[in-house]
Amino acid sequence: MLYLSTRGQAAPRDFEGVLLAGLAEDGGLFLPATWPVLSPAEWRALRGLPYPELAARLMQPFIGEALTPATLLGLTEAAYAGFGSPAVAPLVQLDHRSFILELFHGPTLAFKDMAMQLLGRLFDQVLARRGERITIVGATSGDTGSAAIEACRDRDAIDIVILHPEGRTSEVQRRQMTTVLAGNVANLAVRGSFDDCQDLVKAMFNDAPFRQEMRLAAVNSINWARIAAQIPYYAYAALSLGAPDRPVAFSVPTGNFGNVLAAWAVREMGLPVERLIVGSNRNDILARFLAANDMSVKGVEPSLSPSMDIQVSSNFERLLFELLGRDAAATAETMRRFRAEGRMPVPEAAWRRATELFRGVALDDEATLAEIRHLWDRAGYLADPHTAIGTAAARAAAPRDPAIPVVVAATAHPAKFPDAVARATGQRPPLPPRLADLPAREERFSVLPAELDAVEDFVRAHTRRNRG
Ligand SMILES: *Cc1c(COP(=O)(O)O)cnc(C)c1O
Repeated sequence: MLYLSTRGQAAPRDFEGVLLAGLAEDGGLFLPATWPVLSPAEWRALRGLPYPELAARLMQPFIGEALTPATLLGLTEAAYAGFGSPAVAPLVQLDHRSFILELFHGPTLAFKDMAMQLLGRLFDQVLARRGERITIVGATSGDTGSAAIEACRDRDAIDIVILHPEGRTSEVQRRQMTTVLAGNVANLAVRGSFDDCQDLVKAMFNDAPFRQEMRLAAVNSINWARIAAQIPYYAYAALSLGAPDRPVAFSVPTGNFGNVLAAWAVREMGLPVERLIVGSNRNDILARFLAANDMSVKGVEPSLSPSMDIQVSSNFERLLFELLGRDAAATAETMRRFRAEGRMPVPEAAWRRATELFRGVALDDEATLAEIRHLWDRAGYLADPHTAIGTAAARAAAPRDPAIPVVVAATAHPAKFPDAVARATGQRPPLPPRLADLPAREERFSVLPAELDAVEDFVRAHTRRNRG
């Protein structure tokens, strides 16, 4: 399997190249040159497989020669062995047609573990064979960072530096990162927003000498391997509900557009996905785009769902590339104008194509709290604010045909956002026993302004320490 950059100026790469590169040299994102498509009979044959086996089978075409099927299966089994549910991603029925796909049973209680636990092992495998080391730098609005740190801690071939916006993550989210005192882990609180952190990471990748010197690698959802590792759970849910013989819809609370892109990929691979519902908080750029072709950047506003406090959804570029008929020059030009003007000029025909499949729903904090309360009162279900945006969006934009089930991606455990849940329901969800002492653990992090030079110096110093 070869991968192309959405901007067309980087040489095609194989899976290993894409895993290690993250962002393409031309600033674009990698996508498979062609989508692997399964026939209905092939999909039916995958029903009933344990999650790690399904994941290995579906990821094999994306990985190609880089790993044998047996090696890949070994990695998926190890990645999901520590999850708190034997189903790995259990499907909970809410009402006659709504289901919650719980993606938060991993070590850091958010869906990011689904991909990250596998990614850490993929890096390890590939680097050990090549005898190389890398430095992972990533920006997080909360959950990516802890999932990445948890997946990479104490691994010999990896240093990891995670940037988070100072004061804009929940206490639990911050502590899950800053209390990991492993020697290869460094946390940086940036005085700025998540978008500032993401811009700093992009700038480090675009600084070619620095990138080379540090052997930078990415774990943000710009890394294709992460998207690839998120595809299997959509298939798992769809197959359980009768696909490919019954269409399904997905509702995904969205920030960087990575998780919903994986749901879109499953459709490209041949499953009947009738609709994709994109849930946002008051940072509603995607909802505005889908409603009125208005992809214009406004300031980032803090909300009760901080993992979605994002205005620039980096993975949208992958969908844009497809909407533009895989025209890399047009994608590059559209992204250049978006950067320069703060507004993305998506051609009318491409926008219409998007609206045939996607719906956008945005909720403010009040509506989010009301939905958490509604789920508790009506179904006895405690949902975190991100998941609640997904369930409310699902109700608002479900396909008319009630025979089409709507699956909501539950992206975080309610105990990750206990204040919002308690405010809405009076119930304070406890942390699972393995995390119960988190509030008492020692924290370690540095604080810096959102300035590239200072951040690069920090990364250099941290990495040098480990390379002696
Ligand atoms: C990361 C995250 C999201 C957003 O996912 P994207 O892939 O960025 O769209 C939503 N909810 C939670 C809890 C998250 O951690």
